[in-house]
Amino acid sequence: MGKVLIIGAGGVGTVVAHKVAQNTNVFTEIMLASRTKSKCDAIAADVKRRWGVAIQTAKVDADSVAELVELFYNYRPELVINVALPYQDLAIMDACLKCGVHYLDTANYEPKDEAKFEYKWQWAYKEKFEKAGLTAILGCGFDPGVTSIFTAHAAKHHLDEIHYLDIVDCNAGDHGKAFATNFNPEINIREVTQKGKYWENGRWVETEPHEIHKPLNYPEIGPKESYVIYHEELESLVKNFPTIKRARFWMTFGQEYLTHLRVIQNIGMARIDEVEFNGQKIVPIQFLKAVLPDPGELGEHYTGMTSIGCRIRGMKDGKERTYYVYNNCSHEAAYKETGTQGVSYTTGVPAMIGAMMFLKGEWRKPGVFNVEEFNPEPFMEQLNKQGLPWHELSGLDLEV
Ligand code: NDP
Repeated sequence: MGKVLIIGAGGVGTVVAHKVAQNTNVFTEIMLASRTKSKCDAIAADVKRRWGVAIQTAKVDADSVAELVELFYNYRPELVINVALPYQDLAIMDACLKCGVHYLDTANYEPKDEAKFEYKWQWAYKEKFEKAGLTAILGCGFDPGVTSIFTAHAAKHHLDEIHYLDIVDCNAGDHGKAFATNFNPEINIREVTQKGKYWENGRWVETEPHEIHKPLNYPEIGPKESYVIYHEELESLVKNFPTIKRARFWMTFGQEYLTHLRVIQNIGMARIDEVEFNGQKIVPIQFLKAVLPDPGELGEHYTGMTSIGCRIRGMKDGKERTYYVYNNCSHEAAYKETGTQGVSYTTGVPAMIGAMMFLKGEWRKPGVFNVEEFNPEPFMEQLNKQGLPWHELSGLDLEV
């Protein structure tokens, strides 16, 4: 059905490669390209061993539009699945426009020198993609991604108006390390150390980092201390569902993790500006990434599960109604299938399904879109088939 190019050979790129290889009826030709070609080759070898599918590999610096354009002209993909880092989003979108290639990613653009993620930079490409007749699908991981699609599904089937949305993200897994991040450490630490922010009554309310917290109860897991942080899907969801009165994002953190994070910040290792070291300029957070465990390698000893979902209150037929939709994902099962842990798995599977939606023509229209702007149904159906089954509960006394 279509030829895809995956960019980025980290934990998420690994899962995308394994999942597209399991769906060769849709993905007829596959290439994996990244900064370090040896990582692509290792993933391709594992994909071949597990699924008997050959993947081409290439080296590309995705910060360079010229290099991307050369690769796109040589390989001629129909769609690029961008699972490199958020810094590369705009360069890849520019290359797509130059070569007539469709685009999908899992994280919105962030400038390297400012820990600020917003959709404005990518939304500004709307007209260019429309004029070129190309589709750009933004934020198609789990959160953003599945959480946004869960919200669209709730709005379509369960509620006439969504009033209160709480996205709840629990990782109750244990990787056995004193401190490690579950996805790229630089991006993760930038995200969780910034101020909290949520939407209430038509405006953003800012909080100190981790200021609002309480234990929330997660299915099959139990209570876990959960913290309100800012997360990128809130920006598009309050725009696309204007009846929302309050939207918040909760994430669980263990005490050990928070203590390490505080020390990292206090000693300046979370800095994103350059410092002089031995006559060389280095960025502390990038140096930190080099010494922390590689998130892609955490899988082997990871136990427990993640639980991510949307707890929603709103109106249905003139009455107040609650609705909770979630997925629980086992780290062990993810590792067994793809050699990576649950956080990479829960991001990579939806990226593959989004690409499948595009190639099947379900999600194909010119412009730049967040995933909640597409029909959620075929995507929800694939979640159940591709390893991320979801469950729904209604009529609960939701505790948030
Ligand atoms: P990793 O750091 O493990 O992998 C990133 C990959 O991108 C690496 O292979 C890296 O190359 C490659 N890369 C970085 N810079 C360049 C460049 N200039 N050119 C080419 N390749 C480059 O990250 P993850 O796999 O954990 O995360 C991937 C993406 O997924 C991130 O954008 C992250 O924000 C997003 N994400 C989204 C989630 C969601 O639910 N929506 C959840 C988790 C992650 P090298 O190997 O050489 O370092």
